[in-house]
Amino acid sequence: MSQDSLPTTRRAILIGAAALTSLPLLAASGVANAAGTMPKTNVKYQATPKGAAQCSKCNYFLAGKGPGGTNLCKIIAGPIDPTGWCTMFAPKHA
Ligand code: SF4
Repeated sequence: MSQDSLPTTRRAILIGAAALTSLPLLAASGVANAAGTMPKTNVKYQATPKGAAQCSKCNYFLAGKGPGGTNLCKIIAGPIDPTGWCTMFAPKHA
């Protein structure tokens, strides 16, 4: 490696490091919390709970993340009701 290539290599390392450090920011900014796209009918979504299981207790629930503070889901498309339920229900871990 010649000394002429050191600044370019150093720059590449810095750019790579900057890109890596931005990944958690992307996750926190909504990429990891993006609403789903699956049609509600595919997972038999209903606006009422199924026993004790309901969206607000689901791992995929995105409280108030939609337009105007509506509730979303990481799996299905569109606004959902906190008391809703679908076949993809997965209880939140305590
Ligand atoms: S129960 Fe279904 S619709 Fe409700 S948050 Fe969980 S995955 Fe989404």
